[in-house]
Amino acid sequence: MKIGVLALQGSFIEHISVMRQLGAEASPVRLPNQLDSLDGLVIPGGESTAIFNLMQSFSLIQPIRELAKVGLPILGTCAGMICLAKKVSDHDMETLAVMDIVVKRNAFGRQIDSFETALPIPALGDKPFPAIFIRAPIIESVDSQVAILARLTNGTVVAAKQGNVIAAAFHPELTDDLRLHSYFLSIITKQLSGDLGDRDEQSRVKLRDSWRDS
Ligand code: GLN
Repeated sequence: MKIGVLALQGSFIEHISVMRQLGAEASPVRLPNQLDSLDGLVIPGGESTAIFNLMQSFSLIQPIRELAKVGLPILGTCAGMICLAKKVSDHDMETLAVMDIVVKRNAFGRQIDSFETALPIPALGDKPFPAIFIRAPIIESVDSQVAILARLTNGTVVAAKQGNVIAAAFHPELTDDLRLHSYFLSIITKQLSGDLGDRDEQSRVKLRDSWRDS
């Protein structure tokens, strides 16, 4: 399984390491041609404006949007989640807009207000997940096609899934608990074995060729 990890800024090294621990072939993505033939993409935490601006500079926005449209599984964590959202409520910033969620940045305050909590994520089993929130965003609202994966005890939504796209407000790559990454890989496995039926390999090849030629 080939996983690309967007390696422009933020915690990409940690994501690559977790993916390799789980037996996936993981490689950094900095240029559009490195998106070729990936089975999944991770957008790490970091600083969402920096990540998005660099994506723009490296001409990655359109290819990633198009791959998302044809069903490429994507995992976005923290700043990565902000990049996936269709709207950021408290900042006037452009995003990839591949997930129908509205997010709010730095929703818990400053760096000093970072915290770790045992977060119930039913999709990962009974044991709560050690979720690390660092200047984290929250999900303020979701459209009906989005499944909520996790809420804090006060009801705040902090992880969600739409099709093959998963967003988490916290940093699963900074703990020894690999279950969220495993869950993401299981979605890819299902897709590759045809269970989800929404992989459109032909349109992916066509898209890839079109941005290669342009
Ligand atoms: N505060 C960052 C932002 O708004 C996200 C922080 C993180 O990814 N840990 O982009």
